[in-house]
Amino acid sequence: MSTPPPLHPDLDALDPALLEAVVRGAARLTPEQALDLYHRCDPQSLGRLADQRCRELHGDTIRTYVIDRNINYTNICTAKCIFCAFKRTGDEDDAYTLDHDALLEKVRELVAIGGTQILMQGGMNPELGLDWYIDLLQRIKSEYPQVHVHAFSPPEFIEFVHFFDPPGKNLKQKILHVMKRLREAGLDSLPGGGGEIFAPAVRNKIGMGKCDAESWLTVMRAAHEIGFNTSATMMFGHIEGIADRVHHMDLVRQRQDSAIEELADDGGGRYVAFISWPFQADNTVLGQAREWGIDPRESEPGAFPGDVVARLDGTGRREDHPKFGRRRRMAGPSAYLRTQALSRLFLDNIYSIGSSWVTMGPHIGQMGLLWGANDMGSVMMEENVVSSAGSTHCLNEPMICRLIRDAGFIPAQRDNAYDLLKIHEGPDAPDLKIEDWSACRPDRLHSEQSSETEAEGCGGASASEEGPSVTLTVRDSE
Ligand code: SF4
Repeated sequence: MSTPPPLHPDLDALDPALLEAVVRGAARLTPEQALDLYHRCDPQSLGRLADQRCRELHGDTIRTYVIDRNINYTNICTAKCIFCAFKRTGDEDDAYTLDHDALLEKVRELVAIGGTQILMQGGMNPELGLDWYIDLLQRIKSEYPQVHVHAFSPPEFIEFVHFFDPPGKNLKQKILHVMKRLREAGLDSLPGGGGEIFAPAVRNKIGMGKCDAESWLTVMRAAHEIGFNTSATMMFGHIEGIADRVHHMDLVRQRQDSAIEELADDGGGRYVAFISWPFQADNTVLGQAREWGIDPRESEPGAFPGDVVARLDGTGRREDHPKFGRRRRMAGPSAYLRTQALSRLFLDNIYSIGSSWVTMGPHIGQMGLLWGANDMGSVMMEENVVSSAGSTHCLNEPMICRLIRDAGFIPAQRDNAYDLLKIHEGPDAPDLKIEDWSACRPDRLHSEQSSETEAEGCGGASASEEGPSVTLTVRDSE
């Protein structure tokens, strides 16, 4: 059991001694200091601090990626998240649910290219019974026992409870009942999709029909209690204020403290990774909202409504600004990198910070490795959620290795536990073997709704991360 580093609430956020201690892991930022740091620290300095912190934890040489496959087993969903371009109702022409044979074929293709993990998430589809999931997991583990099954984010689990009505006196007991059945069938860990922004004012506005923050955190607590490791995610750059991002990270940090203190000695799990990514606007209802400070119809933009409403304790009230929820503030590269850097510095109890190249593009994703991220997520063979909303970046294994190497690190393939599988130092490295890079170019990601055929355009390597995790949410890349 480890004790969290001490807080120094009396120190200014830019106090050099405080920041030096944060970089060493000898002090912890308060939420107020984190918010202050975001606003007052120049971006380059913030990135440098996050990079130093990352090097303290992960060294100077290796940065990782995983080969997995992001499988979205259904796009039918009862929720109505206004940021989502992926969901369909059951009677829409392009609604789909993959049958078990099709899903097994995807796993076979993953294994054929050296993949180690599937990230499986979908919409909340009331037509699928518990037996459907159990049979699927049993078949995957029977035919591919070596594949790690990273599947079903918290919103899916909450709907499992609603759909299956399992025994239990409270929500956590019901979740545990379903979770243990799925673990027996082959589930290995949970992705952190569906986190979005925890603050109720934001969440109620953008995630209609999706579980609230406390339910999301309860699923993760249940997972940690039975020994599953999980990740946590945050989707930002829409209607939220910067304080909402800090509040979101603060809840994750608090629950991680509890998991480490109360469960670690008994074989419990914890959050091993945090991945954040910006909202993707194409084909979404939320994307039709005016963009604050950019839309010419906003002649006097003033303070962004999300910042007016947001509170560090999550108690912001939508009534505090008449335009809250009707204006969006998209996150560009600078806002993305600053937010990721802040997550590295603030989340002192989370091992891995993932870079979201899926949404930000390969080169901003690469920059993320110098702004606090230690992991590039997964090679992408298929992704259907953020790609529905306009993000279409796709990288194969040589490309992701080259991005890591060009950033000054040695690329290494990892597994779900972040153990290194292959360190690509020598001439056999996937990127160093390539003589003609013209054959390696980003290709489309979106596969299920656009074609009956598989997405093979990514050069063969597959995978996904949890990043933009899908879920019911937009793409846990995780
Ligand atoms: S984000 Fe997930 S839960 Fe929300 S509508 Fe889309 S698929 Fe459903």
